[in-house]
Amino acid sequence: MSTTPDIHAELRRRRDELAEKVATLHWDLGGLTYEMAIRDHFRLDVLVRKAAELQDADAELGEVERLVAEVDQGVGGQCRACGAPHSRGAAYCWRCGQPLMLQAQSTLVGAAVVPAPAGLPAGSAAASPPPPARALSDQTTTPG
Ligand SMILES: [Zn+2]
Repeated sequence: MSTTPDIHAELRRRRDELAEKVATLHWDLGGLTYEMAIRDHFRLDVLVRKAAELQDADAELGEVERLVAEVDQGVGGQCRACGAPHSRGAAYCWRCGQPLMLQAQSTLVGAAVVPAPAGLPAGSAAASPPPPARALSDQTTTPG
């Protein structure tokens, strides 16, 4: 019950729209291919453009479906600008276009200290002795 039903409904509506768009594009592409086939005249550029359009819509549909599933499970987060839910790792809000990664970072900085990434053992850099450079500096020749 953390998300408002309005946004949930909007998400599902968007998913339905995209599903319909993908279905329509499928039909278009199939019909187009058929028309070309019976005329024995294939326009590859037209087919490729149509297929790219379908691919885009299909990818967006996949994202929205994932989003709907994640909202149902309560994972992901919420856009600060408009309150729309987003999936974990989403870069931009699907609803208002706000960059979500920046929001997440500023939230982390303000809320808690993030543990350093693995790779450098903590404290090893501070514990290492300084390089023996001072002995050389004692013997510097007079500038000339
Ligand atoms: Zn938003």
